[in-house]
Amino acid sequence: MAFDLLLRHGTLADGSGTPLRPADVGVTGDRIAAVGDLSAVADADVALVIDARGLVVAPGFVDPHGHSDGNVLVDGALASHLHQGYTTQLSGNCGFTFAPLNDVSRPGIEPELEALGLDPAWRTFGEYLDAVDAVALGPNVAFLLGHGTVRGAVLGADDRAPTDAELAAMVGHAEEAMDAGAIGLSSGLIYAPGIHGTPDEVAALVAAAYRRGGLYATHMRNESAGVHAAIEEAIVTARVAGERAGRPGRLQVSHLKAGARAVWGEGAALVRRIERARADGLDAAADQYPYTAASTTLATLLPPEVLALDPDDAAAALRDRATRARIRELQASGISGWENVAQDPGWDGIVIARSASRPEWNGRSLAALAGDLGGDPFDLALDVLADDRLAVDIVLHCMDEGDLEAIMGVPWIAVCTDAGGRRPGHPVLDDGVPHPRAYGSTARVLGRYVRERGVLPLETAVAKLSAVPAARLGLADRGQVRVGWAADLVAFDPVTVIDEATYERPARYPTGIAHVIVNGRLAIRDGAETGDLPGRLLRRA
Ligand SMILES: [Zn+2]
Repeated sequence: MAFDLLLRHGTLADGSGTPLRPADVGVTGDRIAAVGDLSAVADADVALVIDARGLVVAPGFVDPHGHSDGNVLVDGALASHLHQGYTTQLSGNCGFTFAPLNDVSRPGIEPELEALGLDPAWRTFGEYLDAVDAVALGPNVAFLLGHGTVRGAVLGADDRAPTDAELAAMVGHAEEAMDAGAIGLSSGLIYAPGIHGTPDEVAALVAAAYRRGGLYATHMRNESAGVHAAIEEAIVTARVAGERAGRPGRLQVSHLKAGARAVWGEGAALVRRIERARADGLDAAADQYPYTAASTTLATLLPPEVLALDPDDAAAALRDRATRARIRELQASGISGWENVAQDPGWDGIVIARSASRPEWNGRSLAALAGDLGGDPFDLALDVLADDRLAVDIVLHCMDEGDLEAIMGVPWIAVCTDAGGRRPGHPVLDDGVPHPRAYGSTARVLGRYVRERGVLPLETAVAKLSAVPAARLGLADRGQVRVGWAADLVAFDPVTVIDEATYERPARYPTGIAHVIVNGRLAIRDGAETGDLPGRLLRRA
């Protein structure tokens, strides 16, 4: 056999950003064996020939910012990612991971574990990775270690700086995770318990990642009125950590956005701020999902003092009349640096995505619910937070299209989903009315922003979906179609590719993504899952 697999007559976008060109791609085992005119190879000499006429053949897409940490243990196929053409996903973002797990951190993680029906046996990050490694996987998966989870394992929900001994214990967790194969460290500085992290503590953990060649990805402390200061904080953290580590490291600003009316129109200025750091020698970049709504937890409504409580204690506090009055007052007056979504975008823009206690609220805004139920949106929000022990997801309509497109056009900013793998009709992985980005991100970039709106060329979009994020993850042989590289490939129809997922009906696969090949094996053929699960756990090299 000349090849195990041969894609004939396709148009190649190789991930480097260079112009499209006609090329066949031959695969042997899990590697790309040949790229170019392979018309001299007879069909009889190939185990499987795929006619890619009319299709763009590209490197399999790499999602640099995902949240499949638990989902991957429920259904390793990560179907919503496969159907988008993803062949690799990085999870463990926004400071949140499912390890390290101990008696101190467990209460904070418990609601999420319960929602997924998981009863973990692991404790260390390495044991968690081993659990993932034992699962049959659709795409390849890799993981960051979450700063918030590490903090929770040492300090619980406490709102205070760590002692020297506690900080040493946190660094110990980071070193263990990095040595077990974590790609780097993430932070989520608006979420409990990461919100309580001090700059010094975060820098100490990032330095531990940098010492081992890892990445630092941050959901910054503020993406609204304080976003400029938050970018500066991220840059300073990366510089300080690089100095401590004795070697510079990579900084990834997660899901870059101008996330409040107060900063609409500043998308390009945010890009320039990161560009200045790049010009000054910092290896900084960012990612973005292609939607003007965000998705997060309703608990971001709560001030840091409430987020310093375990979920059960927080639920009790929210039922207390005096505490409610104080939270209402803080929302009206604001706290420096705290994102205050009740003010901006306001109750109209806050849509419940998932509530266990009130599934009938899923897909509805707090303003609309208050209109129907005759209550105050603030009280409705705190009621549902208390009953669901803070585990309520929301979709937040907070961005402007102009900013989105200004960021989208930047070649070095990767595309991400910011979502976990889902599956329509699945008893666990189809709950609620989630953000459509889980199903539609790649096709929305290729269909809406490349073809329909002309925001960026196809070759650039493919690079932002493949080579650009692969390099951030430090994957040396993925993200481009090159001889000798891993045979992760996607073939899509540039004329028809489009997202079908909407805010009202998110659980719909995109149109136009025909074939997805992971490690040389077809996971999607003619738009349907083959049932083969060729993915692997990728540990940091
Ligand atoms: Zn985030």
